[in-house]
Amino acid sequence: MPGSQRVRTNILSRSLIEDRSERIPFSGCWIWMGCSHPRGYGEITMRQKSIMAHVASWCIFKGDPGNFHVLHRCDVTACVNPDHLFLGTHQENMADREKKGRNKLPTREQRFRILSDDQVIQIRSSDLPIKILASQFSVSPWTIINLRRKKSDKRKHLCQ
Ligand SMILES: [Zn+2]
Repeated sequence: MPGSQRVRTNILSRSLIEDRSERIPFSGCWIWMGCSHPRGYGEITMRQKSIMAHVASWCIFKGDPGNFHVLHRCDVTACVNPDHLFLGTHQENMADREKKGRNKLPTREQRFRILSDDQVIQIRSSDLPIKILASQFSVSPWTIINLRRKKSDKRKHLCQ
């Protein structure tokens, strides 16, 4: 729908994106650590409306995308780095998705590709404090919190 992705940027800020994303040094991606959409896109819920985190990032850093879709250059749907985003039409979005096989839903593990399956299991079964685990695995405390949260699957409540 035209204009449906328009966002009230006045209630969004850079820190919202920066505080809730994790920067991946080798790729430059900013991985959204807040709630996520089943297709792997980050999601922000405000005033009972939810918007995609990468769209919010574009609005904050680059301005209103108008009727264009915000697409990923880096092929990481959870990425909110404005430099990894570009604008395209609906058709370009569909073609891009098709090309990247993105019409299939990613598994939970694929969305957390920064850690191996074994590392995820280790973190989830560990009783160590968040800070210690975060430094052991070189990730932010947010990543640890998210992994533990997903285990009990209370994500839905935390989104609202
Ligand atoms: Zn990226």
